[in-house]
Amino acid sequence: MQFIDLKAQYQHLKNRIDQRIFNVLEHGQFIMGPEVKELEEQLAEYVGVKHVITCANGTDALTLAMMVLNIQKGDAVFCPTFTFFATAEVIAYEGATPIFVDSDAATFNICPVDLEKQIQKVIADGKLTPKAIIAVDLFGLPANYPELQKIADKYQLKLIEDAAQGFGGEINGKRAGSFGDIATTSFFPAKPLGCYGDGGAIFTNNDEYAVLLRSYCVHGKGADKYDNVRIGMNSRLDTIQAAILLEKLAEFPTELKARNQAARKYTSELMGTYKTPFIPEGYLSSWAQYTLVSANRDEAMASYKAQGIPTMIYYGTCMHQQTAFKSLGYTDDDFPVASILAAQVFSLPMHPYMGTNDIKNGECS
Ligand SMILES: *Cc1c(COP(=O)(O)O)cnc(C)c1O
Repeated sequence: MQFIDLKAQYQHLKNRIDQRIFNVLEHGQFIMGPEVKELEEQLAEYVGVKHVITCANGTDALTLAMMVLNIQKGDAVFCPTFTFFATAEVIAYEGATPIFVDSDAATFNICPVDLEKQIQKVIADGKLTPKAIIAVDLFGLPANYPELQKIADKYQLKLIEDAAQGFGGEINGKRAGSFGDIATTSFFPAKPLGCYGDGGAIFTNNDEYAVLLRSYCVHGKGADKYDNVRIGMNSRLDTIQAAILLEKLAEFPTELKARNQAARKYTSELMGTYKTPFIPEGYLSSWAQYTLVSANRDEAMASYKAQGIPTMIYYGTCMHQQTAFKSLGYTDDDFPVASILAAQVFSLPMHPYMGTNDIKNGECS
C-alpha cells in the first residue's frame, strides 16, 4: 500500500498525459510555451481570481509574494509555528523576522486569538514593523480567513494565503487561492494538485501585483527579459509540467470528491479511537493529509506498520523548535497547542485512488 499513490493516478490518466507531453516535445517551446498560458487561464477560472502567475515551486511563489510586498529587514511577518519550513524560511530569507503563532487545537491552522496577541506584542516592543501575515491551509483545510482578514484590516497588515496544501479547499464556496492579498500554491508531486517535478503558482486580484510578479519571476524584466528594471529571479514553470497539470486539473474535481469520500470513511471508522480531523461548517478540505492525534502515537504507528499500512508524521518539529530558528529564542511554552500537536499527530495514506480495500485496511484493529 502506498502513502500517496502517484502511479495509480498516472495509470488512470496515462493516455492523456502522454499525449500532452508528446505535444510539447513536438512544438519544442519548453519555456513559456502555450500550455503555460493555458494553465494560468484555467487556474484563474477554477480558483476565481483575476491573475495567476506560475513559477518554479511553492517556495519561490512565497518568495515572490514577499518581494512584491517589499518585505525586508526590520519587518515582522506572522506565520504559524506548526507548518512546513518554507512558510517561515521565505520571511527570514528576505531579512525580515518571522513571528510565530500558535495553532487552533481543532483545525491545526493559525489561531486568530494568538495572532492578535503576537501582533500586539510586536507593537508594544516597538522594534519591528508589523507588515504581513502568512496563513497556511494546513493538510488541505483553509485557514480561518474571515477572522484573519478582520485582523489584517485592523492592523493594516497584508494577508498571504500559503495554499501549497490547500488547493481545492473552500470556505462557503470560495476557493483556496482566492483569500488575502496574494495566495500561493505548490505543484510538488505529492500536493493535492501535483506535477512530475517542481512547480508553483501565485494568485491575486491586484493588477499592480500581477505586473510586478511577472517581472520578478523573469529577472526583473521591463519591456523584455534583456531590459531589467529591478532585481528579480529566474522562476518559471516548465512547459512540460504545465502540460501535465492541464490534464491533472481536468481530473481534479473528480479526485477532490474521491479524497473527501476517503476522508469521511476514515473518520467514520476511526472517530472512537483517535481524535479525527475537524472540518468547520461551510469549509471543504482538499485532504493533502488525513491527520490523527494520539497521545500514544508510537504505538499507533507501529500497529499500522504491522498491518502493512504506511504512516507519516507531518510535522514532528514546529518552526520554533527548528535549529535554524533557535536564535529567535522561543520555547514550547510560547506555543502550547502546536507543541503538543507536533508530539501527537500522524497521517494515514491519502490519495484519490484508494480502493475500498485500502480504507478497510486503514481500520485500527
Ligand atoms: C510544500 C509546501 C511549500 C513549498 O512548496 P515547494 O513547491 O516544495 O517549494 C510551502 N508551504 C507549505 C505549507 C507546503 O506544504
